[in-house]
Amino acid sequence: MNNIVWHNHSVTKEMHAELNAQRPCLLWFTGLSGSGKSTIANALELELHKLQQRTYLLDGDNVRHGLNKDLGFSDEDRVENIRRVGEVSRLFVDAGLIVLSAFISPFRSDRQIARDFFPEGEFIEVYVSTPLAVCEERDPKGLYQKAREGVIKQFTGIDSPYEEPEAAELVLDTSVLSVRDSVEHIISYLRSQGRIS
Ligand code: ADP
Repeated sequence: MNNIVWHNHSVTKEMHAELNAQRPCLLWFTGLSGSGKSTIANALELELHKLQQRTYLLDGDNVRHGLNKDLGFSDEDRVENIRRVGEVSRLFVDAGLIVLSAFISPFRSDRQIARDFFPEGEFIEVYVSTPLAVCEERDPKGLYQKAREGVIKQFTGIDSPYEEPEAAELVLDTSVLSVRDSVEHIISYLRSQGRIS
């Protein structure tokens, strides 16, 4: 690292944002598998797109097919998974986009690392707090069943911990909120913060 020098680019983060006429930020969705992170993030991205916002959605499973395909689900690999996603999110926010990242991200310390990449207000933690029983009942990918049978090890909520956020900007329990309600909550929040008009 000693011989690597940081280049200051002429086109800055602020200039990217200005050209896009928007206030870039990162919406970080965290919660159990099946809680609704991807579903809400996907619906939100469509809504933001209709509002002429330039966005990018980073999704846990998709990233594990590419950038992070060398990583597994040990504690160490989960930390690295989130570190890389935090870095990529930062690059995309620098590029002037509103980024939506949907990752279980079970450890508080990792989410903190991602939060620390950003100035105050640019990292918006969305805790999808749907109870485990509901997620397990939905089991959209059949993963809870496999985890209960012991076919999958270290599954969050079953034999690997999920540390609840203590101060998420938004908490959405999809056992009581529809997808539409959840999207509206987030849009209202972004408006209240002056992130979108
Ligand atoms: P995650 O990304 O958190 O693993 P997914 O979005 O992949 O979760 O899966 C959530 C599942 O729950 C989907 O099959 C979705 O259709 C279903 N679901 C039912 N009700 C809701 C709701 N109110 N909000 C979000 N998802 C819901």
